[in-house]
Amino acid sequence: MKMRDLYSGRTVLALGLLAASLSVQAEPLRVVSSFSILNDMVKEIGGDKVMASTIVPVNGDAHSFEPRPSDAKTLASAQLLVINGLEFETWLPRLQQAAGYKGPQIVATEGITPLAFEGGQDDHADHSHDHDHEPAHDHDHQHVRAEEGEQAHSDHAHSHQHGSQDPHAWQSLGLAQIYVRNISKGLEQADPANAEYYQRRAKDYAQRIQELDDSIKTRLQAVPVEKRKVITSHDAFSYMGKAYDIRFIPLVGVSSQAEPSARDIAQIIQLARREQIQAIFVENTVSAKLVEQVARETGAKVGGTLYSDALGVAGSGVDTYLGMMRSNTDQLIKALQP
Ligand SMILES: [Zn+2]
Repeated sequence: MKMRDLYSGRTVLALGLLAASLSVQAEPLRVVSSFSILNDMVKEIGGDKVMASTIVPVNGDAHSFEPRPSDAKTLASAQLLVINGLEFETWLPRLQQAAGYKGPQIVATEGITPLAFEGGQDDHADHSHDHDHEPAHDHDHQHVRAEEGEQAHSDHAHSHQHGSQDPHAWQSLGLAQIYVRNISKGLEQADPANAEYYQRRAKDYAQRIQELDDSIKTRLQAVPVEKRKVITSHDAFSYMGKAYDIRFIPLVGVSSQAEPSARDIAQIIQLARREQIQAIFVENTVSAKLVEQVARETGAKVGGTLYSDALGVAGSGVDTYLGMMRSNTDQLIKALQP
């Protein structure tokens, strides 16, 4: 046979395996992520071997998300589910039940040592079934970390459940490397025929993440450490703050849903004046009302929009994770540069 002459037995075997794998996995793997940032990471690593979709949409607030029937349908059709973990997706158990999804699940933060909620903010409640608590609940605790003594929250009665860990680990490009490894591993396991493809793309993506991380560190050298303090809407930036020595002072807690008390706001305003904080940022997933009030009363300028828990719409430049991290850095440097 001509074939025998042209190909070694090994090549024929490899071609046979390839053909077999193509017939098994001709359709892209259907991967559903809980929110848009993970969805982008899945697309980066999965390329054209995956059909990626997200449950919480772009500019959506995952903390207050209420799944719709169409989300159950999306999840029901998934072959792989990717979530953040660290109790970020409080709405997920109900949705999983509604969808009857029993397939594999990747927890993107697996292996990360999470930051504790500084100040023990208690607003990470499962708001999906906890609304009745809200009016009676007095958020009488401080959100200003530097100002916080034990006394400030020791008398605070916790009336509802919340996570004790900060889920916003994607705000650190260093920790995003762990996300990439976990997602890649999950894709490889769910679709072994394309394992090498995923590994190659994950490696390339990890490289680009590293380059952005390095360039942010270099660029931030233009801002003296003592100037690196800003006010944000909700407490989503602790990981970024830790990575780059920036002090983020949140108006509300780790969830975007808490209503700060008048006392909380007064304390933030005092702190902003005392520390001469230059900039206060709006977030894409949180109402700007409070930010504008604090800006008015302190003379701090509204520095722009930081992307915290969701990407922006397609074509906005903040429609990818790397684009979002780049944009957040640009906004911060612009506002803080002396
Ligand atoms: Zn958040």
